[in-house]
Amino acid sequence: MIGGPTIRIWPLAHQMYGWDMMASVLVHEFGHLKLYHAEHIYKGLEAEDKANRYGSCHMRNDLIPRNCWLYREFFLPSHIFPGGWDEAKCRAEYEKWITWLKDAPMVRALAVPANGMPAAGT
Ligand SMILES: [Zn+2]
Repeated sequence: MIGGPTIRIWPLAHQMYGWDMMASVLVHEFGHLKLYHAEHIYKGLEAEDKANRYGSCHMRNDLIPRNCWLYREFFLPSHIFPGGWDEAKCRAEYEKWITWLKDAPMVRALAVPANGMPAAGT
């Protein structure tokens, strides 16, 4: 979220992350709008955290991806360490994250990203 009550999403993000992760982005951005209207904040880590909470609290449960919180944790470093998140960096971080998921059985049991991740136990 940049500059108040607007939403910006990288147009090619769905090709890299898949629709399930992008649905978590929409929940988050919806949360930013709700947060802005409720508390008039939209910047900083507090806003990023609260946007996740506002989004999930104000969205119908059946529209929230099962792994929404896991996806939100993936995107959190881009807010903690802003700058330099070009396409190459995003792809590299996604590949590291997918590799980490494949090597983390407890997390893998919870997560099934739309692209490239085997189902739990396979
Ligand atoms: Zn945000």
